[in-house]
Amino acid sequence: MIKGMIADIERAATHDGSGIRTTVFFKGCPLNCRWCHNPECIGFKPQMMYYPEKCIGCGKCDEGCFSGARVICGKEYDAQTLMKEILLDKDYYRENGGVTFSGGEPLAQPEFLKLMIDECKNEGIGCAVETSLFYYNEEIFKKLDFIMADFKIWDSDIHKEYTGVPNERIKENFVRMNKLDISIIARTPIIPSVNQEIDKISGFLKNLKNVKQYELLPYHPMGNAKRAALGMEPDGFKEPDREYMKELNKYAFVR
Ligand code: SF4
Ligand code: SF4
Repeated sequence: MIKGMIADIERAATHDGSGIRTTVFFKGCPLNCRWCHNPECIGFKPQMMYYPEKCIGCGKCDEGCFSGARVICGKEYDAQTLMKEILLDKDYYRENGGVTFSGGEPLAQPEFLKLMIDECKNEGIGCAVETSLFYYNEEIFKKLDFIMADFKIWDSDIHKEYTGVPNERIKENFVRMNKLDISIIARTPIIPSVNQEIDKISGFLKNLKNVKQYELLPYHPMGNAKRAALGMEPDGFKEPDREYMKELNKYAFVR
């Protein structure tokens, strides 16, 4: 039986695409972005997260923690069990909501992702994917309503320094996707201390007809609490100020 490793399921999400959505976070990512706001989704295996502020010192760790101080992130799901969770929200999806498969990198578990998209479609539920575009999977892309894809840094060496991988393959996948009949929402997380060359990214994306929207997402330090729970150091980045975002937003577009 095909199973998927899932980090989390967020119900009634309103920021992962159109309408009201259920976001399913796949565990595991081939990138390792230094600012990742879902660091618990990078590793492919289950991981213990520890939140000391929630510990009541009961000393019963061996029996399982009921205060939420020790939690295991990562659970294997079969399609039927995950569908049960998704169907709880079906009444809220209406015409433009649905399910967003996110992560981590959902395309790193292609067989399970494909199965889940088919299951959703059988129920009349629309699907989208949030991806780094490190992988290209035409069979999956053709089944989706839209794709949210990141283009993080223009220069490939800097991309590798901050994400662990060069960006040629990602650039190439944007171009390959442009031949399909699918809408792409492209995004760049804005990290002030990193030279991302947003003007060049924007120019490149403007030449791709399938990119219907280009959004700039300000870095937020919310990943640091999860990094601490995983025993990692803080990422050390700072939020961009309003002026900086205003200046860069001239490169965002909708069409
Ligand atoms: S079970 Fe949870 S609350 Fe109790 S001591 Fe262990 S971590 Fe703390
Ligand atoms: S691609 Fe996304 S999930 Fe993967 S490491 Fe980067 S920010 Fe995190």
